[in-house]
Amino acid sequence: MRKAVLYLVIGILFSPPLLSAQNLIWFKGNTHCHTTNSDGDETPQNVVKWYKNHGYHFLVITDHNVLTDIKPLDTDKTDDFLLIPGEEISDHCDGAPIHLNALNITDPIEPQHGNSKVETLQNNIDAIIRAGGIATINHPNWRWAFTDTEMSQLKHIRLFELYNFSYNCNNFGAGGNPGMEEVWDRMLSRGILMYGIATDDAHDYRDEFSAKKSNPGTGWIMVRASELTPRAILTALEKGEFYSTIGVLLKNIVVTDKGYTVVIREEDDMKYTTQFIGKNGRILKEAFGTTAVYTYQGGELYVRARIFASSGEFACTQPVFVNKDDSKG
Ligand SMILES: [Zn+2]
Ligand SMILES: [Zn+2]
Repeated sequence: MRKAVLYLVIGILFSPPLLSAQNLIWFKGNTHCHTTNSDGDETPQNVVKWYKNHGYHFLVITDHNVLTDIKPLDTDKTDDFLLIPGEEISDHCDGAPIHLNALNITDPIEPQHGNSKVETLQNNIDAIIRAGGIATINHPNWRWAFTDTEMSQLKHIRLFELYNFSYNCNNFGAGGNPGMEEVWDRMLSRGILMYGIATDDAHDYRDEFSAKKSNPGTGWIMVRASELTPRAILTALEKGEFYSTIGVLLKNIVVTDKGYTVVIREEDDMKYTTQFIGKNGRILKEAFGTTAVYTYQGGELYVRARIFASSGEFACTQPVFVNKDDSKG
């Protein structure tokens, strides 16, 4: 019973709003990248230029334990491009890296440390909130640092990196270690609502691009917001009004109290399969074509969607909790 009430509260507070998509625009953005202010190989000016020239609408520069000053970078006030200040708080515990992004902060935040991985994560999350920023948990599978066991114990956190395409972040898992979507499904199956971000965590802008490098443009988010301002973008992020992608683009995501619909932006002669996923990562339905509809049946606990294209590209939409009075489902 307590669980059912909890889900009801979570549902009211955090379900993607049933708002109409009218007057909302999709903005392409990246919440994680580096410059020569930490271990990136390009200047902040050239990093901004790269993202501007590649169709991005917003960018957060997140140097390690440095708050890169965006004022001198934001020279053209009339362009359709937004810079949001940020920092990658780069902490560690028990030999494992503990990295979190602080989005939209005004002063740098020192790593807060802690006596356990959970405490280290939580201390940094709390510091980001105190500073008025929004926290994201970065690349949990990098160095196999921590997993759903630790993340499930955290408070006041809603965003984590589902896909970080810098080199060796182990997004997909192997050898008995869970990939990040499995980690996500484990948290969701416990009734913990988390939204999954894709980033490129770019470091390497020069020389040839390869899978062994951390290049820009490899994964990003599409955020649905009313305008291109930090407030509108970050509010949308916190509400799960976005999807993560490596190329598949969507026209619409419609979540109602009856079902979940995804409308895909068709490219060339690509074919598409949409998987609707529920409790314990179970595939609830597979749909072909550019419009995929799932009607809630009961017992799903949550529903999210994963869209594959025949090109190998894919996208993940955010989960919504359903059947809130059916928590045993
Ligand atoms: Zn990192
Ligand atoms: Zn990074």
